[in-house]
Amino acid sequence: MTDTSADLVILGGGSGGYACAFRAAELGLSVILVEKDKLGGTCLHRGCIPTKALLHAAEVADNAREGDQFGVKSSLEGIDIAGVNSYKDGIVSRLYKGLQGLVKANKVTLVEGTGTFVGPNTVEVDGQRYTGKNVVLATGSYARSLPGLEIGGRIITSDQALSLDFIPEKVVVLGGGVIGVEFASVWASFGADVTIVEALPRLVPAEDEYASKQLERAFRRRGIKFKTGVKFTGATQSGTGVSVTLESGDVLDADLLLVAVGRGPNTSGHGYEQAGVKIDRGFVITDERLRTNLPNVYAVGDIVPGLQLAHRGFQQGIFVAEDIAGQNPKVIDEAGIPRVTYCKPEVASVGLSEAAAKEKYGSAVETFVYDLAGNGKSQILKTAGGVKLVKAPDGPVVGVTMVGERVGELIGEAQLIYSWEAYPEDVAPLIHAHPTQTEALGEAFLALAGKPLHVHG
Ligand SMILES: Cc1cc2nc3c(=O)[nH]c(=O)nc-3n(C[C@H](O)[C@H](O)[C@H](O)COP(=O)(O)OP(=O)(O)OC[C@H]3O[C@@H](n4cnc5c(N)ncnc54)[C@H](O)[C@@H]3O)c2cc1C
Repeated sequence: MTDTSADLVILGGGSGGYACAFRAAELGLSVILVEKDKLGGTCLHRGCIPTKALLHAAEVADNAREGDQFGVKSSLEGIDIAGVNSYKDGIVSRLYKGLQGLVKANKVTLVEGTGTFVGPNTVEVDGQRYTGKNVVLATGSYARSLPGLEIGGRIITSDQALSLDFIPEKVVVLGGGVIGVEFASVWASFGADVTIVEALPRLVPAEDEYASKQLERAFRRRGIKFKTGVKFTGATQSGTGVSVTLESGDVLDADLLLVAVGRGPNTSGHGYEQAGVKIDRGFVITDERLRTNLPNVYAVGDIVPGLQLAHRGFQQGIFVAEDIAGQNPKVIDEAGIPRVTYCKPEVASVGLSEAAAKEKYGSAVETFVYDLAGNGKSQILKTAGGVKLVKAPDGPVVGVTMVGERVGELIGEAQLIYSWEAYPEDVAPLIHAHPTQTEALGEAFLALAGKPLHVHG
């Protein structure tokens, strides 16, 4: 007999929901977790993990193709997409099994089915009511489209792009944000002719302008085309292709159109509004402690306005569990959430961009860019890019933006520096192993502390 009441009832078993469930269980609370599809949600099944597997396969393809740059005789014979998919799916299913094991180990009651929040502390699944002293809403997000642009056939979102059984020869990617540039990068490495269309003036427009410039330069070198500052006006498809028209009058013909224009909150049809949950433009409105307007009802993850990232969902889930358990956790600093775009080259950032810092602190904000040309390991890898630091006037470093292959792995240190509100003089004496890319961060801090080492001019 399944329990029908618990300390927490959580609606949605994605990054936010399951993290909340596990932390609450660790703290001795009883948990009912309702999931209609597969535990792990978007991130594990249709997001972070499968895309990063594709990106790694893309890197392997590039290495095979570019072996001669390193004196290694190799060539790319081709991509076996069935093999790529089975590698990707194998990773997802191993992690999925692990997650199912963790549900059991944590003694979380998993209810499989579609839940409706019927309020004030109840979720209904297939006519059965589950009541919680607390309810956590964690229903995630879906791929958005544009008005009049219907998904189907050759017009796809990331959901379909992840399970293609062919590599398009020619593809248009609508949207130059994280998801768009990651797929553009994969398909280009697999040999496709890729054009990105972005309405805003630059690729990765949420990042510091420095990152956009570096990425655009690298994409140009890779032969990835992009049209920025131009609006999409329509798309028509036939049995053989899709035609994409732009406000500029350009028409782009391709095999596929990937629509990557952002993700909408999945909040309708689950009873939220009927139960009185405050919603704005589809998002659940919470205070900084993730409490909705209803007592003992919380929301976490992509349905809460802000960065739609898995680790934000994890952290919010943990936060809510600890809050409910009376641990009074520290409010999450949204700017301190690290952001990584895993295309080639990678973009990684934490804290504020230069523009955001200037808005907050005025024009006396200091910046420094360390070019990866001076970093031995980056030269060994043959990657270009740099590390940009943004410092508050007479204050700590408030932003770090990095571009280059593998820089995503450096974000951990950048995040600590940002979160500890470190001054350049605090970081400059810390020693970075040679030759690693972490030295680029170290060198940037040395320079900002007034003692540059491998810096020209
Ligand atoms: C292509 C792609 C790549 C991404 N890459 C990254 C990345 O590299 N790094 C990163 O940090 N983030 C990435 N993300 C974002 C990340 O996947 C999301 O931020 C994260 O999954 C959000 O977690 P969540 O718990 O809010 O929602 P979700 O993971 O969407 O989980 C919500 C869960 O709720 C369930 N559900 C919904 N309604 C109901 C209902 N009524 N009853 C029962 N269950 C319900 C759903 O089935 C789902 O399992 C990516 C996303 C995409 C699409």
